[in-house]
Amino acid sequence: MDGTAQGAQDLVTSRDAQYIGGKWRPAAGGGRIDVVDPVTEKVIGQVPAGTAEDVDEAVRAARAALPGWAATPPAERGAILGAVRDLMAARREEIAATVAAELGAPPAFAAAVHTDMPTAVMGGFAALAAGHAFEEQVGNSRVFQEPVGVVGAITPWNYPLHQVVAKAAPALAAGCTVVLKPAEDTPLVAQLFAAILDEAGLPAGVFNLVTGLGPVAGQALAEHPGVDMVSFTGSTAVGRQIGATAGAAVKRVALELGGKSANVILPGADLARAVNVGIANVFANSGQTCSAWTRILVDSARYDEAVEAATAAAAKYVPGERLGPVVNAKQRERVRGYIRRGTAEGARIVVGGTDAPDGLETGYYVRPTVFADVDPGMTIAQEEIFGPVVALIRYEDEDDALRIANGTVYGLAGAVWGADEAEAVAFARRMDTGQVDINGGRFNPLAPFGGYKQSGVGRELGAHGLAEYLQTKSLQF
Ligand code: NAP
Ligand code: MG
Repeated sequence: MDGTAQGAQDLVTSRDAQYIGGKWRPAAGGGRIDVVDPVTEKVIGQVPAGTAEDVDEAVRAARAALPGWAATPPAERGAILGAVRDLMAARREEIAATVAAELGAPPAFAAAVHTDMPTAVMGGFAALAAGHAFEEQVGNSRVFQEPVGVVGAITPWNYPLHQVVAKAAPALAAGCTVVLKPAEDTPLVAQLFAAILDEAGLPAGVFNLVTGLGPVAGQALAEHPGVDMVSFTGSTAVGRQIGATAGAAVKRVALELGGKSANVILPGADLARAVNVGIANVFANSGQTCSAWTRILVDSARYDEAVEAATAAAAKYVPGERLGPVVNAKQRERVRGYIRRGTAEGARIVVGGTDAPDGLETGYYVRPTVFADVDPGMTIAQEEIFGPVVALIRYEDEDDALRIANGTVYGLAGAVWGADEAEAVAFARRMDTGQVDINGGRFNPLAPFGGYKQSGVGRELGAHGLAEYLQTKSLQF
């Protein structure tokens, strides 16, 4: 095929089967989940609504495959992950089309972020598997890093492939086997990923996929006694429940939860750049980013200037072009509810609002919304909205800024901008949060990612991410 006449939709595939033990097999139950394109609101595919029976089959397959995979030399595991990376790169268009269709991501963003980022992360773990020191000598002991065992991975829809790869790649590099339950809204890219692992020659049972609903398939996976570790990304409400279940069973757990990150613009910083990058950070992926800097903190003297700059920057996010829809109708209602709440609590909308964007009656769009005069205690300054909504908060001095930045239950990410880098770093060190970008520092796929406080437990990515899937054994001589 020369590709010229082929529409992106033709690249999107759905499979009416679960991937278990190296085979696509029919699900145990008859339930199905419709996959909907958030741009067109049309059903684009159907996948099985998996049950506890499917989960049990998948966990058995993962257990059976564990001894062989754990004993495979790390460099060999790395070589397979390298082949996976290459296949992901070769199937870039297919992956991007799939994420664009099921998440509603604009095509350019689907390719550059939703596809290229997880491909790079996969490549990073392929290299880590080959290069990591799984053994060290400590005095008269030889200390071995061994795989934790069978991993139950539960992922959300907002970065549907990245979040799968951020768990599967380190788990497989470590020698663990995996059962994945992806989000019900975005199961197609998870199916495509399973097909890629299969094509790369991953042994049967090392990776298994069960599509289904959270409270059914997800819960069965989290509770399964054959699962040694649960790795979850999603809402704090569900994460709390999963943490309690895992704790009761004395299972290892990793939780990547929500955030309400602060973008702190210190006096003297390049305000225009800080606001522009900050708005892009929030509105990318339609605000559906757990690490988004959804609170912009500006000193009183330059507050009005910041509001103006934010309004101008937001205007570039035209719904239906650069700004995609949110994932589903329920999420749109949730975001609009927060916008109403912001107004009711006394914040001022300078741009955006709850109406459908002009000319977009179809699609789950929310207008890019900027709130000014936001008090740090307001609901829109405390809770994760997960839509294209940003709050501008005024501070009086640095201590006030720090108190506001640290004044939520979350601590996932953040930004600090300052004329003096040392001053920005000193401020960042006082923030209760897992990642801070200094003066627009780039995302680093090898840097540990994860939360302080209620943003989670554990770290993903890089060597720290690999360590989550390893346990240590000491032999004394
Ligand atoms: P969610 O319910 O926490 O979903 C995350 C994953 O957990 C999905 O695979 C989900 O399945 C599954 N799940 C749901 N209930 C479960 C249960 N009782 N036991 C085991 N697994 C379960 O999040 P959501 O409903 O998609 O989004 C709600 C809010 O969570 C968002 O508005 C946002 O604030 C937050 N969120 C945060 C992140 C993040 O990266 N930190 C990502 C997504 C959402 P289903 O797909 O079937 O629900
Ligand atoms: Mg849910």
